[in-house]
Amino acid sequence: ENVILEVKDLKKHFHIGKQVVQAVDGVTFDVIRGETLGLVGESGCGKSTIGRTLIRLYEATSGSVKFNDQDVYKLKGKGLNQFNQKMQMIFQDPYASLNPRMKVLDIIAEGIDIHGLAKGEERRRRVVELLEVVGLNAEHADRFAHEFSGGQRQRIGIARALALEPDFIIADEPISALDVSIQAQVVNLMKKLQKERGLTYLFIAHDLSMVKYISDRIGVMYLGNLVELSDSDSLYDEPLHPYTQALLSAVPVPDPEVSRTRERIILEGDVPSPINPPSGCRFRTRCPHVMDICAQEVPEWKEARPKHWVACHLYNEDK
Ligand code: SF4
Ligand code: MG
Repeated sequence: ENVILEVKDLKKHFHIGKQVVQAVDGVTFDVIRGETLGLVGESGCGKSTIGRTLIRLYEATSGSVKFNDQDVYKLKGKGLNQFNQKMQMIFQDPYASLNPRMKVLDIIAEGIDIHGLAKGEERRRRVVELLEVVGLNAEHADRFAHEFSGGQRQRIGIARALALEPDFIIADEPISALDVSIQAQVVNLMKKLQKERGLTYLFIAHDLSMVKYISDRIGVMYLGNLVELSDSDSLYDEPLHPYTQALLSAVPVPDPEVSRTRERIILEGDVPSPINPPSGCRFRTRCPHVMDICAQEVPEWKEARPKHWVACHLYNEDK
């Protein structure tokens, strides 16, 4: 398999006064070229922090990230410049992420300007082409972001991300702020662009139903840790981690055969604070299957089934 991104034991801790927020605490995964990897979890679980740390908006606390076999945190000069073009991000809130006083032309051309790739007519020509690619048109170039609807703004955000011909796009809840009726349109546009341009996506979401539709594989996060990762079908058909099982039990299933066998699992209590997370398995305070060992040892991240990774003591053969 052709790995485009390799993440090893990545940590991102934030220091707030004397306290340390362990927002991301040791995640390991690969992304395969051309796939969509969905990253799912409740708000505050660290999924956006991973995205921002991968693209170097945040400095990692420790761990390594390789993009096209190059160590991302050691890049300088030309290598860094190239990385900054090849990895792009689409943000959750198309209202907040686009400057309302800027013309669409200048918003989309921002990267082109930073990297000095085109000027004047050529610059405009590229922007118009991008507008057409995302389903807008030339007349939109001279209008301001505030004149557009949410769905149109997210199309502008996508055009901006495409301007530097990236290989990899981190989409941080790109549809969560949009009307349900618009969500599928934006997701379908993203799928079409992926096919046409050979893009790889890291698709961050809190909603398991939409993420299944777009993702080839899905990773599930809980309190700064990745707890399970596999192809989408295995994750839905045979979730291994008790947290994933609980999340999935809350997703309505259209097939009545399946819903009859899947009982709703209600988790007790709240997600603990990432400032002082539980010892051992971080999910143990809410886990219906908790055992003695769960408080003592951090469960190992292991391939419990072929290409199906999980961190849970239930899957230790020797237990
Ligand atoms: Fe539950 Fe223990 Fe598995 Fe954690 S390691 S998910 S507490 S069984
Ligand atoms: Mg977020």
